[in-house]
Amino acid sequence: MKRIVSAILFVMLLTGMLCSASRIMPVGAVETIYIRADGSVDPPSAPIQRNGDNYVLTDDINCSGDGIVIQRSNMILDGANHTIHGQWGSIGGYHYGTNITGVSNVAVTRFGIRNFYRGMGVDGSSNITVADSYIYENNVGVDLHLSSNISITGTCICRNSPMNYGATGIDGSSLDNIIIRNCTFGGNVGSSLSNVTCCTLSENSIADRLGFGVGGSNCTVSGNKFTTYYYVASSMFSKALVLGGSFNEVYGNTFRGFLLYPYLQGGPSVFLSGSSNKVYHNNFMGNITYYALIDWTNPAYANSWDDGYPSGGNYWSNASSVDDMSGQGQDEFGSDGIIDVPCVINENNTDHYPLTVPWGPVSEYHSGTWEESPNFTPLGWRNITYIVVHVMDGHIDSAINWFKDPMSNVSAHYLISQEGEIVQMVREKDIAWHAGNWTYNQQSIGIEHEDQGSWNTPNWVPEKLYQASAALVRNLCEKYGIPKDRMHIIGHNEVPGVVKPCPGPYWDWGYFMGLVNGTLAPRTFVVQLDSTDYPVSVLSNSTASDFIFTQVPPVISINFTAPSGTHGFCNLTVPQNLLKGNPWTIEINGNSSTPFTQTDNTTHTFLSFTFTHSSTINVKVEGTWVIPEFSSFLILSPLFMIATLLAVIIYKRETEPWATAAAA
Ligand SMILES: [Zn+2]
Repeated sequence: MKRIVSAILFVMLLTGMLCSASRIMPVGAVETIYIRADGSVDPPSAPIQRNGDNYVLTDDINCSGDGIVIQRSNMILDGANHTIHGQWGSIGGYHYGTNITGVSNVAVTRFGIRNFYRGMGVDGSSNITVADSYIYENNVGVDLHLSSNISITGTCICRNSPMNYGATGIDGSSLDNIIIRNCTFGGNVGSSLSNVTCCTLSENSIADRLGFGVGGSNCTVSGNKFTTYYYVASSMFSKALVLGGSFNEVYGNTFRGFLLYPYLQGGPSVFLSGSSNKVYHNNFMGNITYYALIDWTNPAYANSWDDGYPSGGNYWSNASSVDDMSGQGQDEFGSDGIIDVPCVINENNTDHYPLTVPWGPVSEYHSGTWEESPNFTPLGWRNITYIVVHVMDGHIDSAINWFKDPMSNVSAHYLISQEGEIVQMVREKDIAWHAGNWTYNQQSIGIEHEDQGSWNTPNWVPEKLYQASAALVRNLCEKYGIPKDRMHIIGHNEVPGVVKPCPGPYWDWGYFMGLVNGTLAPRTFVVQLDSTDYPVSVLSNSTASDFIFTQVPPVISINFTAPSGTHGFCNLTVPQNLLKGNPWTIEINGNSSTPFTQTDNTTHTFLSFTFTHSSTINVKVEGTWVIPEFSSFLILSPLFMIATLLAVIIYKRETEPWATAAAA
């Protein structure tokens, strides 16, 4: 018995030791630290090093009360990238990470503040600066009250979440002159910023469901990026910017609204419940209509939505883009970058001069991001008649860097990753240097696809890449009146004078054009054996992916995806010199008794069957005979591989896009 007890004790001891050894505990574990009015640090053992007016944190701190209470004016508190942790989430207590009350000229920098009732509180103070800090996972990030001249820059105010819905990023009241610049807001439950008056809000990135709520007048909101995901129909829960006062100026911002449930109306990007505000040179973008973006702006208040002619109004991604006329009354012939008809929001709110292209550097395509290339020829207007499809022969990051390099002299309008992310690098109206033929450069939009070097491998194009590219091409065709056919949507190799294989033999044009046109087209998967290609064609109303062919057993395996409960069909065309069946067996999700119809001609077998979806289903088509492996192949294969490798290396040196002197 004794031995058992001592063994248990020993294990407990060991466990305890291990735990304390593996946990990273901040050195300082205190109740509250004060920087007193006389400059002293209390308690003196706190990990803060004083050097005149500079106080530098030397370690992370765990606080059971307030974090650091600043009672001294004219000082700098440098967190030196350390974090003070509170106990809000675990044991509660209405404590402040940094409490600045009744002082002036205090700067707080490089500070992590986490898990307090208020990350930072500023009350009755003036000339307070917060910079390069990270205020996160508090109930409310920053609470500002009765103070003036506050500047918050370069700070991430993220993932703060209150017990009740309400202000959680920055909450302010009774303020005079507040500047918030170059900050990041995201993951806050409630608004990024609320009740703030008399402010300058610029160059911030805001991705909370409720963005900035500005109660006062004479504020400037400029150069911010707002991203709002609309979950519900009611505007109550999704607003990017709310202006309650008057004489505010809102310009140079980008508002992206995404509606997660397309059957619902979205909330507003800008909500005005005051008059005489001026909103111009902003971009309103997203997958919802421009009416939805601004629908809730109150018609009772008259506001200005443009900066007059020719300076212009805002860009509305879903508005008309006809620009045949010019002049203050848009009644003279000729394009001027202003859309010919105004955007009427309601009876007291009209953008008289909507812009034809976005203001400032942002993607013109709603789901794209913007990375500017210096390699282009600027034009105000051009006739776009072709889409040129390319492959990068590499990774998208390298391609972006290459296109940003002024020495490369190459670029493309759009780049699409394997995951379907879209990056725009040259404006659609400007000429990108991609086609290797000046006439075609002048008339085309170039799209590069990320192949990660595998353009010469069968089936390399992921479904997401096809889908994203087809949606972009469809959008461009409709915008510029380009016919959706192979005369106008061409491969780089189809540009006269171009000898490159780009986009390569495994870009499935038939399938791609079907996606562009919204018509059903077979996707061709290629089985490659002994350097011979055997195309297997799959026509289905579901999305076919993960095509696998095995020789032993002689099976084709394909996954089909569509919403659960929907009915799918598949018409499979198999070359008989690849795979024959006598009989065939079709197995769906392991069930091998699937009925099917079979037709043969002299070269191919056509198999047809249906299924009901429960998310993704797997289909195995088993034959009884497969093209035999050549015995010599095994002997020759090492030699063959070396030869192939050499050929590929030589080939790649001449291909996309690194060797493309495309500008000429
Ligand atoms: Zn190309």
